[in-house]
Amino acid sequence: MNNLEQCLKCNLCTLVCPMMEVNPAYPGPKKAGPDGERYRLKDPAFFDYALKYCLNCKRCEVACPSDVHIGDMIQSARIKYGSQAHIRGRNGLRDWALASTDLVGSVASPIAPVVNGVLKMKPVKAVMHGVLGVHKNRTFPAYSSRKFSSWFRKQDQSGFDKYVSYFHGCYVNYNYPELGKAFVKLMNAAGYGVHKLEKEKCCGVALMSNGFADKARSQGEVNLASMRKAVAAGEQVLTTSSTCTFTMRDEYADVLGLRNEDVRDSLMLATKWLYEKISEGEVKLKFRKDFRMKVVYHTACHMQKMGWQVYSIAMLQMIPGLELTVLDQNCCGIAGTFGFKKENYEWSQEIGGKLFSDIESSGADVVATDCETCKWQIEMSTGKTVLNPVEILAEALEY
Ligand code: SF4
Ligand code: SF4
Repeated sequence: MNNLEQCLKCNLCTLVCPMMEVNPAYPGPKKAGPDGERYRLKDPAFFDYALKYCLNCKRCEVACPSDVHIGDMIQSARIKYGSQAHIRGRNGLRDWALASTDLVGSVASPIAPVVNGVLKMKPVKAVMHGVLGVHKNRTFPAYSSRKFSSWFRKQDQSGFDKYVSYFHGCYVNYNYPELGKAFVKLMNAAGYGVHKLEKEKCCGVALMSNGFADKARSQGEVNLASMRKAVAAGEQVLTTSSTCTFTMRDEYADVLGLRNEDVRDSLMLATKWLYEKISEGEVKLKFRKDFRMKVVYHTACHMQKMGWQVYSIAMLQMIPGLELTVLDQNCCGIAGTFGFKKENYEWSQEIGGKLFSDIESSGADVVATDCETCKWQIEMSTGKTVLNPVEILAEALEY
């Protein structure tokens, strides 16, 4: 949505932009968003290559008192005007590999122990740094040798009166099936069986940020078609990733131009759905009395944009024996694939610095967050274990 005329010139967005704090080459949300859009509409030649530095964190949109769609404007401009260029100096092979999560995951998963070992080797990291442009300090999430979808096929989900559909996403499928298993356990404990969507593709967030909008659009169509079938069967579509959820609910329409209004309200994070079911008295969960855990909750940027951190926090607060501290909202700096790139790594770590020191000084056993890329960044940068609230809830269940 292009609503640049609503800008009040208050500059509040510039105060919260994490990229402006570390990178003087970035013009900031006001200049890159509504101000720049005015120029770009006159002549596309005004497109500024520095828009490639935008993290798409949407913190500017949260701060804006006038609901200007600043981040959407920047993302859309990158897609519309910067196809070759955001782009300029872009490492095509690297960006394609980082964005092709389904393809890379399906190749890596059957040989996961080999891939995981190779990706940790120093000479391999040096080659990836020098040739591919992936920073040598970045650790990759490990691949799982058994995909979530293979595990799920063997699960008996018959015999429930009510069902939900699950969009697991590529991370759960290829890297971290434990989260999907925790989701199934939690839903079953709530009295719901789980169906997988008929067909699902990566939500497309990495494709969009790496300049492959057409591919993201076609994957989005596949996901929306599957969601329509689930919704037509009377099922809610639940997720465990804040970024996948935000992308499919908001960016599909606002950035990719996909029509999703018929399924948008049926798509939500599992913690929000559970909180509402418990509040309505339809679901009751029983938690272990011996469960003990000291947790800090990190609000991922896209979670803050949706305003749904309140549900994950409220669900964690229901667990007796869980000591919870909610951290000030700060960007972790990874921004999906942004922090993997050699040229962005230092900014990525500098942006995350405040969050890392808050976590390190908290004395918590575990960090909880709803975003998998925040998990990678925090685990790599602090050494703390990071879990999705769904995993903590499932572990604390008396079930
Ligand atoms: S989306 Fe984030 S990085 Fe981009 S302009 Fe807004 S606050 Fe800055
Ligand atoms: S916060 Fe919103 S209204 Fe204020 S300058 Fe930024 S875009 Fe304009």
